[in-house]
Amino acid sequence: ELGDIGIYADKMRTNLQKLVEMDALTALYNRRSGNQMLEVLVGQRAEYTAVMCDIDFFKKVNDTYGHAAGDRVLTAISAQIRENVGEDGFASRWGGEEFVILLKDCAVSQASVFAENIRKKIETSICYFEDVPIRVTMSFGVKALDPHLTPEENVKKVDEKLYEAKSTGRNRVAVSYTHLTLPTK
Ligand code: GH3
Ligand code: MG
Ligand code: MG
Repeated sequence: ELGDIGIYADKMRTNLQKLVEMDALTALYNRRSGNQMLEVLVGQRAEYTAVMCDIDFFKKVNDTYGHAAGDRVLTAISAQIRENVGEDGFASRWGGEEFVILLKDCAVSQASVFAENIRKKIETSICYFEDVPIRVTMSFGVKALDPHLTPEENVKKVDEKLYEAKSTGRNRVAVSYTHLTLPTK
């Protein structure tokens, strides 16, 4: 049985682990965990699709409503992402207002429906900060994880799709339909 010190040490261990793996503001996994997860997944036989998304014109939210309001929007969007991703998915905050989602046993077509659903939800939700309604939209890139590429190369590919969504008008999902062959063993 654990004494007081044992219980305390155990709690500390859990807290430290959270600090290292999770993002404090959004309670999603952080980029470090995202990279580790990619490292594990690339080369696996399961079909994984990556979704990278970024809030549109987020700088304007901060400029208009203040940084605290921006933080509130980030938290609300992260909660929506977490809700939609569910058990078989992995969601990480990749940078400021940018997220990487990894979906297991998920074909590109299925992942683009998933992304489109979140996009619509965000487009139609209102985030309140001190009674002020704030609306944002998000752009998405969708691409299957390619086991022949490194984690960095995979992220770069899906980022290119996100860039396409941004440069063609934002508030949309850009999908890469390139056919991939999974390793046989
Ligand atoms: P785009 O549609 O091209 O993505 O435009 P954008 O304004 O969203 O992109 P940009 O990269 O110009 O600005 C991102 C902004 O996100 C700038 C930065 O201050 C803000 N940001 C990053 N991290 C945080 C955060 O943790 N909290 C808040 N409130 N703002 C953040
Ligand atoms: Mg942005
Ligand atoms: Mg960004």
